[in-house]
Amino acid sequence: MYDYAIRDGKLYIDGRWEHLNLYIANGEIAYIGQEEFPAKEIIDAEGLEVLPGIIDPHVHFDLDLGKIHSVDDFYFGSVAASYGGVSTIIDFLDPVSNAEELESAFHKRLALAKDSLVDFQLHATIKQPTGSIEAFVQKMKSLGIHTVKLFTTYSDSGRRTNDEDIITLLKLSAQYNFLVMAHIENDDLIDLNPTYTYRDLSKSRPSESETVEALKLAGYVKKYGGKLYMVHCSSGKTLEALVNTYPELINQSLFIESCPQYFTFSIDDLQKADGHLYTCAPPLRKKEEQKLLFKYASYLSTIGTDHCSFNRRDKAQQYLKDTPLGVGGIEFALPIMRKHLGDAVIEKMTSNVARLMGLKKKGVLKVGYDADLTFYQPEDVTISSSHGRADYSLYIGHKVFGRVVSTMVRGKFVMRQQKIVGDHGHWIKGNDIL
Ligand SMILES: [Zn+2]
Repeated sequence: MYDYAIRDGKLYIDGRWEHLNLYIANGEIAYIGQEEFPAKEIIDAEGLEVLPGIIDPHVHFDLDLGKIHSVDDFYFGSVAASYGGVSTIIDFLDPVSNAEELESAFHKRLALAKDSLVDFQLHATIKQPTGSIEAFVQKMKSLGIHTVKLFTTYSDSGRRTNDEDIITLLKLSAQYNFLVMAHIENDDLIDLNPTYTYRDLSKSRPSESETVEALKLAGYVKKYGGKLYMVHCSSGKTLEALVNTYPELINQSLFIESCPQYFTFSIDDLQKADGHLYTCAPPLRKKEEQKLLFKYASYLSTIGTDHCSFNRRDKAQQYLKDTPLGVGGIEFALPIMRKHLGDAVIEKMTSNVARLMGLKKKGVLKVGYDADLTFYQPEDVTISSSHGRADYSLYIGHKVFGRVVSTMVRGKFVMRQQKIVGDHGHWIKGNDIL
């Protein structure tokens, strides 16, 4: 007997909508088709879209910045995620320099992540490597981690990885089959003037610093091989330059992520009286750069939120140097991006993410895959409330397309008809399927 029969929904399969029934047994999708069978519970999904659960490849829950802590921990962050149709989140380990530190960083973060209501995966983060980079990679693989993130900037806090080590990581990524993720901004073009306020954020972190560094790293991929994933591409100028200079690499060995905030807000928002609430790194860009982001959006591999929320009080600092950079958005990423890019964005938030991050049983509606489902009401909506822990959301009042009705993870509802009913998610190992 099947656990659930989901009848008459519009299922998103292979880039198309199909009007079919979906049956679930033991947490997996057991049948998709036109036939009807008995089940313990029958769900009438007529009028609803049924999507593969959204996978957010980029979140920062429970982030300790010393004086200030991000407000969404794994529990509250995953509550917001489930209201956004997100069934899997991928967070980051604390940055470490060698294999030994990696092991403890992994266990520390895994213990925190266990509070998540939705499934989760973890990226390793490397900073100024000290020991053997190959030993780091071997340790990473042995822990079931498929991805490692590096920074080309933040030398001031000792997080930068230099070019020589980036090249070593790229070469190793081909040999060991993993993905190198990079926060790309040219360190020398960033100006950390201590008298800057939030209004100077774009001057402090200009888009040229992103474009110049992205072209350099793409050049390394072309020369040395390996696979590179650029996180949070903020400027359409960067995307345009990469598409025009290295078209052969895009979505082959160079993968580009962008975030809802760069499609929705611009540099103009930073000049408003509450502009400090819009601070993130890399920062919001000019309208003309945003237009280019839309123009070249089809080349983006994924959409991640870079969800890192703070309260108003945390954001209200006199100087930029004291302002925690980051915004929340996981709850609204799907309806915002559906409004911006239409159905084309679905694979950038599901199957593409699963494939790149080594999530073997997720991201598509297919027999044998995890029954991670997003039930979606396709209608025009104005966002009126949020479920994260932060005392503000930039998206309140925005007009979006669609509303998440319920979210299911491995055949169990986590959020059902706007109520949290889940207990806990699972850690999902990264597999070699890229
Ligand atoms: Zn981030």
